[in-house]
Amino acid sequence: MIILKSREEVEKLRASGRIVAETLKKLAEKIADGVTTLDLDRIAEEYVRKSGALPAFPTVPGYNHTLCVSVNEEVVHGIPGNRKLKNGDVVSIDCGVIFEGFFGDHAWTFPVGQVNDDAMRLLRAGEEALNRGIAASIVENRLHDVSAAIESVALENGFSVVRDYVGHGIGRALHEDPQIPNFGTPGTGMKLRRGLVMALEPMLNAGTHEVEVLSDGWTVVTKDRKLSVHFEHVVAVMENGPEVLSTI
Ligand code: MG
Ligand code: MG
Repeated sequence: MIILKSREEVEKLRASGRIVAETLKKLAEKIADGVTTLDLDRIAEEYVRKSGALPAFPTVPGYNHTLCVSVNEEVVHGIPGNRKLKNGDVVSIDCGVIFEGFFGDHAWTFPVGQVNDDAMRLLRAGEEALNRGIAASIVENRLHDVSAAIESVALENGFSVVRDYVGHGIGRALHEDPQIPNFGTPGTGMKLRRGLVMALEPMLNAGTHEVEVLSDGWTVVTKDRKLSVHFEHVVAVMENGPEVLSTI
């Protein structure tokens, strides 16, 4: 069931989105060689609670952290722990919050210190894929126009998109309909309507699109252990075009 949002609800989602964006901005300043992924989680939890919001991911049964932190070959759902970031790593940070009954969900992949050219190309492509998906989020389009726009950036750059995990609607629940694959056939899928709010979240891999889950039951890694990046924004389809809500 698709739940379209009123202007008032979109503004509520913008307030939640601002908190996740501020949290990631704060974390970006802390990313450095030697910092553990749990250090980042603690900073995030403190900031989220100070903002009057609650961490959203603990609403997922069995998960107890504010962030998912996924390093290098880890795609998504990395559990914060004692792993230390190293120069040359790429680190994906995903943060969800609930504020006044509405969810925010936002992820970004950052370089740690100096990364090699291949990693930088993947980072740029991931960000561009998200931007192209946002640009396609207009009422004239269908859902898989967004998917195809995201996929096109991966293909143009010789990268692959993860197929087993998708973007999603968001509102009073973290995950609402529809599911939004990061690949697809243009001109297919539901018509986008005013008030549809989506968390677009391309995951691009340097090698194969195939992924697997580690024995911890959460951490998703690339099957070939090559690098992966993840970029996510909450986007509202509105009468004057897409509005990015997970921003400051
Ligand atoms: Mg997320
Ligand atoms: Mg999400």
